[in-house]
Amino acid sequence: MECGKEVHDRSVFPVGERITNENFIGPVWLEILVSSDTIFNCPIYNVTFEPGTRNNWHKHPGGQILLVTNGNGYYQEEGKPVQTLKTGDVISIHPDVKHWHGATPDSWFTHLAISTNPQKGEAQWLEPVPDDEYHNVR
Ligand code: MN
Repeated sequence: MECGKEVHDRSVFPVGERITNENFIGPVWLEILVSSDTIFNCPIYNVTFEPGTRNNWHKHPGGQILLVTNGNGYYQEEGKPVQTLKTGDVISIHPDVKHWHGATPDSWFTHLAISTNPQKGEAQWLEPVPDDEYHNVR
């Protein structure tokens, strides 16, 4: 497992502030690279998950694109197997598809999160990913 300083040193983009909230199990680091505005209409966040951290199930009304820049993570769409993610992977999430993403239990994980069609509305947050499901990914 890497320590936080190594992640800071290796990160392509600034890692930002360490935050916790009810939509995540575990802490994430968040840096807003491109703000939500009406000029570019393309918010881009740099999101770093500490090992074991993942977000709750959710949907994006306008969709979302994830670009993995460091570490190992998971991505799952409802009704499908969990995908393991690594640096260089690209995930295109269609509008209103229920899904979650996060780190593996033993790795830091960083992705850029691009909000597509953001005018269609904010993410809809749903239930957490239970520990027994998360820790039984294979
Ligand atoms: Mn998402």
